[in-house]
Amino acid sequence: MPQQRAKNHNLAAVPKRESTGIVPDDGSCQLCFGSGMEVIPGKGARKCICQKRDTHNDKLSLVQLPRRYETCQFNTYKPANSSQRIAAKLASDFALEFPAVDRGLLFVGDVGVGKTHLAVSILKGLTERGFKCLFYEFGALLKQIQDSYNPKTFTSELKVLAPVFSSDVLVLDELGASKPTDWVQDTLAHIINTRYNDKKFTIFTTNYADEQNDPRKETLEDRIGVRTRSRLFEMCQTIVVRGEDFRRNFDRNGISN
Ligand code: ADP
Repeated sequence: MPQQRAKNHNLAAVPKRESTGIVPDDGSCQLCFGSGMEVIPGKGARKCICQKRDTHNDKLSLVQLPRRYETCQFNTYKPANSSQRIAAKLASDFALEFPAVDRGLLFVGDVGVGKTHLAVSILKGLTERGFKCLFYEFGALLKQIQDSYNPKTFTSELKVLAPVFSSDVLVLDELGASKPTDWVQDTLAHIINTRYNDKKFTIFTTNYADEQNDPRKETLEDRIGVRTRSRLFEMCQTIVVRGEDFRRNFDRNGISN
């Protein structure tokens, strides 16, 4: 009987907190003193604002954004030219209109032009709207998959890939940066095809353009293979971002990154 079970179950007692007005020294919220409910004298009680903040932070932590992109948002992106203005507009449209979008996005451009900044801003916006998002630097994902083959790590490849397949929107950062071995290209094709077949949207960033002015430089196709590049044409709108490496500003102004 459920009631009987409840009677026998030892419930932990919640320590009584006196409302002394003194800020607790355990770092708990000053409004609800860690109870999660804020008491409004003479009116009643309501869910404390710290609970909403925690829920949002919990959701954001699942996205696995690198700490160096903590401050990246649309309103901290300062376009330096028309290609960056267009990129920022298309990115914010995606974040507002998703899931009513046709395709994912492929940001192409030199290092430091803000491709990752915009991709991260999209994920933050979508997480706030309640969508399940995930960020991976592609090389780091490959490393985790490789590590999963080690019997000592207790992680299976499936465990690593499950959120990669299931997230509503996935960012794969720095596509093409890893040495394009057959295994790397097959793994990428597997991820892309699975998400494509499940009608999931993916956002990519890459430093490799389709055409390179310098014949010594490789193209995106050289790095990811002709079939996967062709699939990306179908899956994503390509956004070319031009400009200088923004990180140079940090040097010039003496600001560290
Ligand atoms: P990319 O992915 O194109 O190599 P990032 O997005 O990593 O470049 O940008 C490098 C750094 O410069 C990040 O700290 C990012 O926030 C910053 N940054 C780049 N472009 C801009 C911009 N237009 N406005 C503000 N910050 C920028």
